[in-house]
Order: sequence, then C-alpha cells, then structure tokens
Amino acid sequence: MTQPILGESNSDFDHNAPGEPLVSDEIALPFPILCARIHERVTAFLKEKNVSSRVQSVQEQTRISLGVIAEALERFSLPEISLSYNGGKDCLVLLILYLCALHTAGLTRSTPNNFESNHHEPIQCVYIQSAHPFTEVEEFVASSVKTYSLSLVEYAKPMKAAFADYLHDTPSVKAIFVGTRRTDPHGEHLKHFDPTDHGWPKFMRIHPVIDWHYVDIWTFIRQLKIPYCVLYDRGYTSLGGTTDTHPNPALLCQPTTPHLPKTNNSNGATNGTINGSSTPKFRPAYELMDDYEERLGRDK
Ligand code: FAD
Repeated sequence: MTQPILGESNSDFDHNAPGEPLVSDEIALPFPILCARIHERVTAFLKEKNVSSRVQSVQEQTRISLGVIAEALERFSLPEISLSYNGGKDCLVLLILYLCALHTAGLTRSTPNNFESNHHEPIQCVYIQSAHPFTEVEEFVASSVKTYSLSLVEYAKPMKAAFADYLHDTPSVKAIFVGTRRTDPHGEHLKHFDPTDHGWPKFMRIHPVIDWHYVDIWTFIRQLKIPYCVLYDRGYTSLGGTTDTHPNPALLCQPTTPHLPKTNNSNGATNGTINGSSTPKFRPAYELMDDYEERLGRDK
C-alpha cells in the first residue's frame, strides 16, 4: 500500500482555475458522447508530464483501477454488472473510471455506426437510502442519474436486506463495483475481486479504488473538475445520515488562523464565522490530508 505524500496540500489548488467542469446536469449528453468526453479527459490527465509526485501517484492508481475495471468487463457482461452508488466521492470516482473504461472497451453504444444514438446497456446502479438522508445527498444522486444516464434502483432498508432484494429484483446481476478503500472499516484485507462474505447475498464485490488514499480521490476529482455533492464544501468528509454525520472537526476554521483565504468556498466561510456570526465554519473536504481523519465527523 502506498503512503500519502507528505508536505503537499490540497489547498495548493487554484480555486478559480479556468476550465470547464467535466459534466453538467443542465445538459445531459448522449451516453456515447458522455463516455468519450470522460475518456478524453482521463487520457489527457494520464498523459500530463512534469506533474507533482502526488499527481503521478494518482495517475498510477488510475491506470491500476482502469485495469481492474477492464478485467471485470472481460469476466462479466454488462447486465451482470452493477455499481453501488451513494453519491459519495469514492463511488463518484469509480463511476467516472467505469464510464471511461466502457468507452475504451467499445461498450457505449449498441449501433456502432451511429455515434449520436443514445441506445446503450443501462449503467445499473443500486442506492441504499440512509434512514435519515441528507437532502443534499439525495439531490446529488438524482442529478447523477440525469447526468450519467444511470439506471438506479433505490432501497430504504438495512444493507444486507437491500442487496437480497436487489438480486431478487435484478437477477442478472452477478458482480457489483464498490468504492471502498483500504482505510475504510472492513477495507483492510479486501482485494480487487472478493465474493461477498458468508451470510451476505452472493455476488462478486469489485473494488477498483481499494488502494486510493483520501488525497488521491480529491486530487482526481479536482484535476478532472468532476462536480461533487455540496456537503463536501461544508467540511463533511464522509457521508452517512443526518443523525450520525457532522462536518469534520479537523476542518474547523480557526478565527485566528492567519493563512486562511478570506473566502471563496461555496459555504461562504470566512475565518471561522460567516458575516461575523458565531456559527462554526469548516474548510472544504479536499483540504484534509490524513486518511485516518476522514471519519472524524462520523459517529459510527
Ligand atoms: P462508505 O465508505 O461510505 O462507502 C464505501 C462504498 O460502499 C461507496 O463508495 C459505495 O460504493 C458503497 N456504499 C456505501 N454506502 C452505500 C449506500 N448506502 N448505497 C449504495 N452504495 C453504498 N460487509 C460485510 O461484512 N461483508 C460483505 O460481504 C459485504 N458486502 C458488501 C457489498 C456491497 C456492494 C456493499 C456496498 C457493502 C457490503 N458490505 C459488506 C458492507 C461494507 O463492508 C460496509 O459496511 C458498508 O459499505 C458501509 O461502509 P462505509 O460506511 O465505510 O461506506
């Protein structure tokens, strides 16, 4: 497992850097064009030279993950594959890599000569709603469905029961992509391909981003300008439900911190307060560096 690169800060990014977002939920692109665009952006990212050691490390992780997804596409047909998607940053990166790999594999259209055709095998996804969901997460999942043409099935029940229902309702599914990383609970011993554990509904779990670090995920999202859930700009670093998830205390703005930018976060934070009020303000998720601080805002 590679170690995070010390001495670099995600706040080195220019918040106002020019460049179009990768996608927009205002204009849903035809699916083959969407995947071609993503492929083009990822390829350009992989070709970048003279980059920092952190970006080099993300380029390497990206190649490994694309290899895992390519292997999955050889072992399973599209109707057999699904993605567990909860609008979080990790499965968002995974979704982008999956769409890129579909373009590479020539699997984005059913009529090869008709590039404008929007006929394609659906991107099957499953979302298990928290008992107390954030409106912002629900909205981001809904906008993802539109932007990325997802065929998303939603359940509101405990995870094991939800996957049992999902396999019953979608019996073609044999393998599910999961955005778990090594430093997540239960992630330590996972491999790229792992059948579910005893007592879980039977399918193959595929973990293409298992060895990505927290900073790798944010480096990729920000380098490729991928739109993400707004909660991350308010200091949330790991998303659960409203009753057990808070902004990460490690990102609390300290009123006396001299080097903080005045503000251009979307939450309008200025050195710990907003408009002089005492409401605590938090820096954005991408400024956290340490994998092991990621879940400090989660009660469980
Ligand atoms: P996060 O770190 O928030 O998410 C990690 C990834 O899990 C996400 O990127 C996403 O791909 C997926 N995910 C998490 N929450 C949701 C959700 N609400 N809806 C859709 N996708 C979601 N545990 C076992 O002990 N044995 C198993 O065999 C097993 N199989 C699993 C198979 C799948 C497909 C999933 C999603 C979970 C499985 N789990 C299993 C549970 C897993 O180990 C974690 O407990 C669970 O994912 C929540 O962990 P987390 O809070 O760290 O998730």
